[in-house]
Amino acid sequence: MTYEELEPKKVFSYFKQLSAIPRGSGNERAAAEFVRDTALSLGHEAEIDGANNVLIRAKATPGYEDKAPVLLQGHLDMVCEANRGTKHDFLKDPIELVLDGEILRANGTTLGADDGVSEATALAILASDDVPHPALECLFTTDEENGMTGMREFDPSKLTARRLINIDSAGEGEATVSCAGGVRSHILFAGEKTPPDGGSSVLHIEVAGLAGGHSGEDIHLGRKNAIAETARILWAGSKASPLRIVSFAGGNRDNAIPRECSAVVAVRDPGAFRAAADEEIRKIAAECVPEDGNFRAEIESAEAGPAFGCERSLDLLTLLRNLPNGVHGMSKAVPGLVETSSNLAVVREEEDGIKIVVSSRSSVESRLDDMQNRVECAAHPAGAQVSHAGRYPGWDPMSDSPLQRLYRETWKDCFGTEAKIVGIHAGLECGLLKSRIPDMDIISIGPDIRNLHSPDETLNVGSLSRLYRLVCEMLRRMA
Ligand SMILES: [Zn+2]
Repeated sequence: MTYEELEPKKVFSYFKQLSAIPRGSGNERAAAEFVRDTALSLGHEAEIDGANNVLIRAKATPGYEDKAPVLLQGHLDMVCEANRGTKHDFLKDPIELVLDGEILRANGTTLGADDGVSEATALAILASDDVPHPALECLFTTDEENGMTGMREFDPSKLTARRLINIDSAGEGEATVSCAGGVRSHILFAGEKTPPDGGSSVLHIEVAGLAGGHSGEDIHLGRKNAIAETARILWAGSKASPLRIVSFAGGNRDNAIPRECSAVVAVRDPGAFRAAADEEIRKIAAECVPEDGNFRAEIESAEAGPAFGCERSLDLLTLLRNLPNGVHGMSKAVPGLVETSSNLAVVREEEDGIKIVVSSRSSVESRLDDMQNRVECAAHPAGAQVSHAGRYPGWDPMSDSPLQRLYRETWKDCFGTEAKIVGIHAGLECGLLKSRIPDMDIISIGPDIRNLHSPDETLNVGSLSRLYRLVCEMLRRMA
């Protein structure tokens, strides 16, 4: 089968036209104009706002005039990644589509099925004369992959619909009905370091070999956090010998579970310290999940340097051990989904002290408030300063909403299997919109897209034609 023979023809034709237009995050103007002009030429209302978001309004088809409107939504931008050795100018060159049986891929670059399938699906519906539907609003946002600034700047008062089918998920037969919000807490631990004293040995402790992972999606897997384990080892050692911290550093990204951490300490009784630390290291190794099987913690002699006093050193260890880290609650609506978590992400030395970053996530806003308070509670006894930054809202699921029921029933009638209702412990644009329009009933769905954000991105073309059929049938049933 050739690309031109794929059904429904309109869906794949619009996807191909869009693929010819460069549309990396921040460079969506031409794609926005294509979508707007296509909608205008089909006789609908369409406009581009100041952030290059496109909003289309289509009238209800006969017999659906008195039905509540529906919003279809996705994003215009795509992640631009190319294989080493692939020559591709993402500001000029079209994405080259390669069809290999049921699998569509690009030639050495990201495909942009995330999220070109949303525009292709909506435009095909707007171009059809055989898909009955209530009044439609179609919103295509910009810069989703780079901070969701399009959705942040969109004026939600332009929307009248109170049910949203978001087409930006990647698993066929699954509807996402919840995502997490997040916030970063910055903790500054200050203290005076004094020159080394004569009677101490200086030791370097290095923790490495841990699996790490995404701070949201992997937080429930029981993997060890290198910063937390280093603090644990030092605390155990501090009970055997007085200790002064010379340096402490671990982790490097807010959204990753730290895999490595190191510290330098001056200890009065190195033999006793090592024995206690080694005992703790053995306990940690015995607790590790298989992915953390390469865990190691090594202690070696090091150069002396200025250090915090004994009391201030214990303050730092107590702070690191008291900061929230890991899973703090599971969803009541979606089985197996993490509701609230935090990640002790980064510790680094800066000019004015030791900077610590904790990134917290929750689908429940009040739990995110509480995570900020818990960070402040841990910081208070150490006299550390706390500020919170980059907060974005989550999306707490409505159990069994009318739109979820319609989705499940339509899926079953069309394809004979049970659809799944899922949530993700990471961010989605739906969360932002839901925070501004709390009574919006939302599902997020999509075709089978694999290896998102990489040159190995693929789309199963059969799953896109089934997605189109499903969305059309859901609209038809809104009578
Ligand atoms: Zn996307």
